[in-house]
Amino acid sequence: MKNIYMIGVGLIGGSLAIDIKKNNPEVVIHGISRKQTTLDEALSLNLIDKKATLDDIENADLVIISIPVDATVKLLPSILDKVSDSGLVVDAGSTKVAICKAVENHPKRRNFLATHPIAGTEFSGPSAALEGLFKGKTNIICEVEKTTFKLQEKALKLFSDIGMRIRYMNPEAHDKHIAYMSHLSHISSFMLGKTVIEKEKNERDIFDMAGSGFESTVRLAKSSPAMWTPIFKQNKSNIIETLESYIANLSHFKDLIEQDNFKAIYNEMENTNYIKDILKGIS
Ligand code: NAP
Repeated sequence: MKNIYMIGVGLIGGSLAIDIKKNNPEVVIHGISRKQTTLDEALSLNLIDKKATLDDIENADLVIISIPVDATVKLLPSILDKVSDSGLVVDAGSTKVAICKAVENHPKRRNFLATHPIAGTEFSGPSAALEGLFKGKTNIICEVEKTTFKLQEKALKLFSDIGMRIRYMNPEAHDKHIAYMSHLSHISSFMLGKTVIEKEKNERDIFDMAGSGFESTVRLAKSSPAMWTPIFKQNKSNIIETLESYIANLSHFKDLIEQDNFKAIYNEMENTNYIKDILKGIS
């Protein structure tokens, strides 16, 4: 692999670029973005070797798309139009149904691999890129059977070299599970932040009283609305289902408090402590 084109050089694209370059110093990383200032920043941070445009994609051995999921749906068919017969196109989007659907009948569908690296932070843009972000993390691959075997192998080697383990899933199962594991966490963090900001008008009080519990629970509320709004739009029906379950649990908890049923409150929390066992070993 000689020429890699990163469409999107923010947190995910930039972090992938760092690790891929570290493992393959001979590779030339070309950056593509909407804004020249973003590419300038990526160059100055050494995330990319060169700036490029979409017209250069025909020279790509590998294209990695790490832009918001609505932009991926729009752009992906034209990227596949441009890529050479031996070129591989991978996306890193946090939803998979709409993205897979966008190219289901594309003549070059076999050049595309749908992935979702389960790694990230609440920060965005090139300056958020981190070395080693993907080490020990899971990459979910969807519809692997629709990608040419040789290109699958190329991608799997790349992911394993940066320390990722692989889970295979169909796009529907991916979007359903990820609504609970990731999308609901973000919504609840955003709404926790909103609730506190609305009630605690004094920013100094919030700052002074924000213990590690509040800080860690509200961390995801720092995330980019530009990235998350299209995710919530594409995964609307699953997210509504998760919110209904979550709101029912919150209401139940409120009812128990109103009823002074602290024995039941204790039990609710004790039962949920089981999460410690489930998440044992995750850093
Ligand atoms: P990011 O840091 O905000 O970077 C995304 C880049 O995409 C931006 O630098 C921006 O460059 C470009 N962009 C924004 N809107 C665009 C549009 N409409 N058309 C074309 N380019 C656009 O975001 P990220 O966290 O790397 O996320 C990238 C992808 O990875 C998303 O699909 C996301 O769902 C997925 N993902 C994110 C995480 C996470 O935790 N953050 C984890 C796994 C997967 P310009 O400034 O030039 O517009």
